[in-house]
Amino acid sequence: LNRRLAEFGTTIFAEMSALAVSTGSINLGQGFPDTDGPEEVREAAVRALRDGRGNQYPPGPGIPELRTAIAAHQERRYGLTYDPDTEVLVTAGATEAIAAALLALLEPGDEVIALEPYYDSYAACIAMAGGTRVPVTLRQDGAGGGAADGRSFRLDLDELRDAVTDHTRLLLINTPHNPTGTVLTREELTAIAALAVERDLLVVTDEVYEHLVFDEAEHIPLATLPGMRDRTVTIGSAGKSFSFTGWKVGWVTASPALVTAVRSAKQFLTYVASGPFQYAVAEALRLPEAYFEEFRADMRAKRDLLAGGLEQAGFKVFRPAGTYFITTDIRPLGESDGFAFCRSLPERCGVVAIPNAVFYDHRERGAPFVRFAFCKRTGVLEEAASRLKTLA
Ligand code: PMP
Ligand code: GLN
Repeated sequence: LNRRLAEFGTTIFAEMSALAVSTGSINLGQGFPDTDGPEEVREAAVRALRDGRGNQYPPGPGIPELRTAIAAHQERRYGLTYDPDTEVLVTAGATEAIAAALLALLEPGDEVIALEPYYDSYAACIAMAGGTRVPVTLRQDGAGGGAADGRSFRLDLDELRDAVTDHTRLLLINTPHNPTGTVLTREELTAIAALAVERDLLVVTDEVYEHLVFDEAEHIPLATLPGMRDRTVTIGSAGKSFSFTGWKVGWVTASPALVTAVRSAKQFLTYVASGPFQYAVAEALRLPEAYFEEFRADMRAKRDLLAGGLEQAGFKVFRPAGTYFITTDIRPLGESDGFAFCRSLPERCGVVAIPNAVFYDHRERGAPFVRFAFCKRTGVLEEAASRLKTLA
């Protein structure tokens, strides 16, 4: 293994899912739903397979039906207009979109600012692209902290501004944010946009949880802010929005120049992927608003169920405004090392979770935080909550 990748080892998701299987634990670690997405979408995939649509290499940028559906979705929801022929690219999940964007847009030595804690593929992809990551920590307390208005894991805008240097090429943003559940506000996004314009930065924005925002939170795509449309690569995922994480269908929307760049890298990573599933996802994107409302309401109820269980078990719970993850603080349980806690949890009570420290460069800042996924059936969450209560 080369020096660029050596520090990353095995992704925590593989490690923890294997631990769940080997110990027969409830897996609240890796973020995947235990209920598949809509039946009509599955049927659409079966029809495509049977009719021989997509069983051979689909077009490099993605099938026209899907690119049109992605553009229509962005316009309907956010008023963002993209030309399906030149401004939309279908990828092998959001994971490939992130990799291809970074490989295409970074020169060796370019600095990339990412919100810490960050999804684990960011660091590895920045490294593979020869870039340097510059983490800006979302603060649970202190400057920019959530104490004043009850919101946790806030972006400190001064810290973000100070992180920009002459070598900064790109801001890698994620909202709604995995693993903290923070949803960036219009005010924060406006400041990010102003900074990007002022310092002439590109922005890659991972919005895979765009449909999972709760209560008063609103998902605002960064590309909708002034000056951003043509410097922003926006990333979405059918795995997250329609609960088909195994299909690996994701997408990019951006200006023609940026889409062309991302596609240049993408063509040599996978060329294309997910043939028949692309037809099905095109149908999924056209589902009526009721689907998205129900999806949100269902996940919100699950959030409340698991958050309540975790609170009763003695965790400090940071109730997420978005995503299907809850970050907790284990210190009220008399614990301080999330890694050790997560490694012992299966044996102690038959539940698997993720230590947030893996998402930090400043490991000590993430040490007491542990993430639980709530995209699971109600009975599973209830059982997990009752097992966790035995910890106290
Ligand atoms: N970005 C974030 C923030 C994620 O949480 C995930 C999935 N866990 C991805 C990207 C990857 O999405 P996909 O499965 O579509 O590759
Ligand atoms: N995005 C999912 C999570 O954060 C997992 C994706 C993966 O396993 N690579 O848990």
